[in-house]
Amino acid sequence: MDLSFTPDQDALRGATTRLYAKESHGERVREAESTGFDQALWGAVVAMGLPVMAMPEAAGGAGATLTDLAAAVEVHGAFLGSVPLVETAVTARLLARLSGADDLLAPLVDGAPASIALLPAVSATAPLVPGAAVARVVVARDGDRLVAATAPTTTARRTLASLAVADVDLTGALVLAKGPEAIAAHNAALDEWRALTAVAQAGLARATLDVGVQYAKDRHQFGVPIGSFQTLQHRFADLHTRVEGSRLLAYEAIWALDEAMPTAPGLAAQASWWCGEVADEAAGFSLHVHGGYGFMLEYDVQLHVRRAKATRLLLGNPRHELQRIAERRWGTSAPDPATVVAAATARPTRGGMDYRFEPETEAFRAEVREFIAEHLRPEIIERAHATGTMHDWGFHQALCNRGYLASGWPVEVGGLGRSAIDQCVLMQELYGSGAPIDGLNIAAMVGATLLVTGTDAQKADVLPRILAGELMCCLGYSEPDAGSDVAAVATKATRDGDHWVLDGQKMFTTMAQEAHYVFLLARSNPDVPKHKGLTMFLVPMDTPGIEITAVQTMGGERTNITFFSEVRVPDSARVGEVDAGWTVMHAALVYERTSANWGEPDRLVEEMAGWALAPSSDGTVPFDDPAVREVLAQATTELEVGRLLLFRSAWLSSLGEMPQVEGSMAKLHITEAFVRASSELLHLLGPDGLVPGSEAGAVLGGLVEHAFRHSVVTTIYGGSSEVQREIVAGRGLGLPRNR
Ligand SMILES: Cc1cc2nc3c(=O)[nH]c(=O)nc-3n(C[C@H](O)[C@H](O)[C@H](O)COP(=O)(O)OP(=O)(O)OC[C@H]3O[C@@H](n4cnc5c(N)ncnc54)[C@H](O)[C@@H]3O)c2cc1C
Repeated sequence: MDLSFTPDQDALRGATTRLYAKESHGERVREAESTGFDQALWGAVVAMGLPVMAMPEAAGGAGATLTDLAAAVEVHGAFLGSVPLVETAVTARLLARLSGADDLLAPLVDGAPASIALLPAVSATAPLVPGAAVARVVVARDGDRLVAATAPTTTARRTLASLAVADVDLTGALVLAKGPEAIAAHNAALDEWRALTAVAQAGLARATLDVGVQYAKDRHQFGVPIGSFQTLQHRFADLHTRVEGSRLLAYEAIWALDEAMPTAPGLAAQASWWCGEVADEAAGFSLHVHGGYGFMLEYDVQLHVRRAKATRLLLGNPRHELQRIAERRWGTSAPDPATVVAAATARPTRGGMDYRFEPETEAFRAEVREFIAEHLRPEIIERAHATGTMHDWGFHQALCNRGYLASGWPVEVGGLGRSAIDQCVLMQELYGSGAPIDGLNIAAMVGATLLVTGTDAQKADVLPRILAGELMCCLGYSEPDAGSDVAAVATKATRDGDHWVLDGQKMFTTMAQEAHYVFLLARSNPDVPKHKGLTMFLVPMDTPGIEITAVQTMGGERTNITFFSEVRVPDSARVGEVDAGWTVMHAALVYERTSANWGEPDRLVEEMAGWALAPSSDGTVPFDDPAVREVLAQATTELEVGRLLLFRSAWLSSLGEMPQVEGSMAKLHITEAFVRASSELLHLLGPDGLVPGSEAGAVLGGLVEHAFRHSVVTTIYGGSSEVQREIVAGRGLGLPRNR
């Protein structure tokens, strides 16, 4: 996996940015509004060779990839370029693929603009074709023929945004292809348009969000920058996340087209829908943040709003794109799964951006799947759901024997030394299988913290037992009055000679009923700021004075309330320095790279797709219902964005970086998408969906009903969505603190 540009692509992007900053700033975009075309910008774009760069050299192009071109198109989108760059590039590539179209290509190679009709012709007229008002050549689909109109007769149409839109008269147009060949050629070109336009929309979304964020930092009301208001910050954080996701998805579609991946058509449709949606939303919110000023024509943000919306609508009703996604993902045009796997495991054919995993990672995934098939028996999952204890000692030990508890730890300390990406793959496979791994997660986290901050004695005593799967821990952080604000814990740690006395109450101590130790955060000094007066302890659960009370939850997980009354522990139970508990708590972050659970919601969507494709008892097939396809398409696209955010974070870790905002974005997006998906998917089942897995006849063994009950808590523990938004808004966007 590589999500970076090559040096050449970086250079191209830099040069394009300089060009557009000079030739496509707000004033120039306004000047071009009446025609939708900026001749000087077009001249500069042609001089750089952008429109035909991604054509084969033999056809007069530069033989560049779509990814190369996309590096420029993203900038074009960000600066609202008033030229048909994408349309010309797509038309040129289409013509280069057809035999006998050389004469049509010649003017394009010489710098003439061209375009492609996105909608089929009606009565020999291609309607509302972007760029057609200035195009020398327009390619269109007329029935089952692919035709080209040269020097076409056009009727320019004024639209919401200036995109040189025109109706094109196709009378006398040249026939390029007929029948299935024509339809396939047009569809392939449309997918390139979809993916490149998605990149442009991602560029626009980023630009409009930056404008909004800057305005929110500069504009003061009530004596503070408006960007310090949490309502604005949280919307910005969501949009920052969605915009990052849109860029990742747009480039994934482009990469897939470059590599002729079987998933490319599906990804192009996903990118088209998602990036259009996000650009629209980001521009709309930026406008809103500008208050009344955003509506003044002097402000650029209204241009963003128009362009984002208009670009989206050129293809038709955006919701129809969701039907296309479902069809391409699961319908009759879905690729054969075997070809998808083969392509995913093929060796990269070129350098630079690559969304495939390394062959070693794929081999590791296969090994993990084998392990799960061998060790995760159905009764283990059933028992976990029946008791609420998401842990099974036998399965846990098997995981530990295989080294999976410490897959990312260095080999010298008993780990497998695997990359962050491999760790992420492992966790997603486990989550996706439904394995009860709360114990694994907690023990791994405590072990990793001890590895960094534990004493030699603690390491020697505890770590080997954690690694062997013999020893379980629970986390004693939360308290009745310290949840999100965990530094507010009140459990007292009082020094008594070479001992400490612990008094207090912990909430939600999951796994306490199985644990040998509690990793306890306590207040050792009440006289200093709250973060500075905390100390961490590793307390044996059989110490006198500890009592636990079971708590059952809506999601079926058992957790506990744990009481500590005059619990005496030696100073050797302290982890880290006195009053340094806050630092100790965060030490495990070094190994905590891949916590978001994408595997579970992904499985949910796939299982529901299987349900939708199978005939129901009345003989109908749910997948034939557009409402069903829409929900599935939306869920799978949101989750693909989540997967990309998650693996981007893991990829950054694998480069030696310490992603924080990226991890928060992944967690925020995936958990919120999980909640939406489980609710919407449950609706599809109607009353049948209400039956839990414990009852006979539950659809998919009650999977969706359980997901509905369980998904919400994923937006709470591990740092609630609001806490993640605070991180994204503050550290990611630099918005001023609000507390
Ligand atoms: C099933 C389960 C298992 C758990 N396991 C453990 C465990 O093993 N060990 C452990 O220590 N804890 C555990 N927790 C606790 C969990 O970490 C907390 O629930 C979580 O940190 C939130 O704290 P809280 O429940 O007190 O909610 P609060 O912090 O009171 O939050 C209530 C609401 O206010 C919002 N909010 C809070 N602060 C802000 C803010 N600054 N801005 C905007 N909104 C805000 C929150 O997002 C939330 O929506 C578990 C919880 C559950 C439900």
